Amino acid sequence: MERKVRVRFAPSPTGPLHIGGVRTALYNYLFAKKHGGDFILRIEDTDQTRYVAGAEEYILESLKWCGLTFDEGVGVGGNCKPYRQSERNKQGIYKKYVDQLLAAGHAYYAFDTPEELEQMRERLKAEGGSSQQYDSSTRNSMKNSLTLSAEEVSRKITAGEPYVVRVKIPRNEEVKFKDIIRGWVIVDSSNLDDKVLYKSDGMPTYHMANVVDDYLMKITHVIRGEEWLPSGPLHVMLYRFLGWEDVMPEFAHLPLILKPDGNGKLSKRDGDRLGFPVFPIEWKSPEGEISSGYRESGYFPNAVINMLALLGWNPGTEQELFTVQELVDAFSLDKVGKSGSKFDPEKTKWFNEQYLRAKSNEELAQLIKPMAQAKGYQISDDKFLVSVCNLMKERATFLNDIIEKGTYFFEAPTTYDAETVKKKWKDESAKIVTDLITVFSNTAFNAHDLEAAFKKYVEDNSLGFGVAMIAIRLAITGVGGGPHLFDIMEVIGKEESINRLKSGIEKINKG
Ligand code: GLU
Repeated sequence: MERKVRVRFAPSPTGPLHIGGVRTALYNYLFAKKHGGDFILRIEDTDQTRYVAGAEEYILESLKWCGLTFDEGVGVGGNCKPYRQSERNKQGIYKKYVDQLLAAGHAYYAFDTPEELEQMRERLKAEGGSSQQYDSSTRNSMKNSLTLSAEEVSRKITAGEPYVVRVKIPRNEEVKFKDIIRGWVIVDSSNLDDKVLYKSDGMPTYHMANVVDDYLMKITHVIRGEEWLPSGPLHVMLYRFLGWEDVMPEFAHLPLILKPDGNGKLSKRDGDRLGFPVFPIEWKSPEGEISSGYRESGYFPNAVINMLALLGWNPGTEQELFTVQELVDAFSLDKVGKSGSKFDPEKTKWFNEQYLRAKSNEELAQLIKPMAQAKGYQISDDKFLVSVCNLMKERATFLNDIIEKGTYFFEAPTTYDAETVKKKWKDESAKIVTDLITVFSNTAFNAHDLEAAFKKYVEDNSLGFGVAMIAIRLAITGVGGGPHLFDIMEVIGKEESINRLKSGIEKINKG
């Protein structure tokens, strides 16, 4: 029987969600939606020593910002909370299966102290062996329920001695599974160690809780980062030992996201070094250290999602811009590459520009209005902002660029770009501006008529077009570049334009 597709994103709250984690969540989400399945969020928080305060809230907020809503968790509908393994553990969910493995001889108790484990490693190192693992070749010389008598074991447990439960990995067995992205993964069980599944603090480890939950939650596809590939064989063994092989999920291990320059995994340090965020939203560590986020840096969530979708997956066409629905329709794990993808911060900006330009001027105006007001600009007329957006959107990467790069729409220049003044403000410039004040004062104040009047003046006086144009541009905007000058003048209006031309004559001087 075809099973309903069910996938999960299973982060551990050990810190902020890296952009690679967001991509894992995204691919799970797209895969679920494509197949009419469920996308489940499960917080894997059984390792108390790695717990970081605020990380879970951060993960939830990040997913929300990205629009990656999950379908299922504790509670109902839109208000449901993610599954949380620490809570599930309190319900005794994992212990039951640990006991099943113990009873079947697939797991055993081990009482070795940290010092004894260290001694074992030292001894094996001294003997020159290549591995210092707790496994089929070493377990017999250690303190565990395979070497101690049953009485001794129960005495230790009753006395409250700390213990762990380890999986008993057999020797020389072939463990294999087919990874959707990498093909067959085959290992000899002799290379695996007897990983800890459960600790006497009452907590299962990642491996145990992860496999049990994937089984209980009827997960059909495990889509996760490549760093979990080495855990695959152990998980396959656990499915075998627990008698769940027939419902074992399929695996897809996603390639790494690599540094923009050089090799290796993209890290926060690369972001700091090259000046781009590696986190979806700003993260404040419990120690108060702040790391920048895409949200706070002015990126649109859909632009980030679009960029991430194409980082490792290719649609097989030249198309680069995708709505989320288009991604859902086009997505398939077959088109996820095996090798890592280099992160490209410039391309991320390009995506943001495309999303910004695709918005209507009216929508952009509403988005920048609070930003303009926060800068103290009085906005009495939304139409004015719509016109500003119309002229500036092609020049902006982020929303605030519209205001930052277009300050002259909001206030008269107080300084004039020194370089431009030096090169382009000529001896005759002040006279040209003075003349043009008269010309413009007698012209209907729209871009078309202003331009026609300007051209006529320049031609009638046999002047250089460029010299005259840059003179008024400097007076109006204070800088040497920008949108079509007569459009700017139309938007800021007659009175303001004439005032600026007048003060330009007074204030611009070559010094
Ligand atoms: N808790 C693991 C993590 O933090 C999940 C790995 C998996 O998806 O199995 O990434």
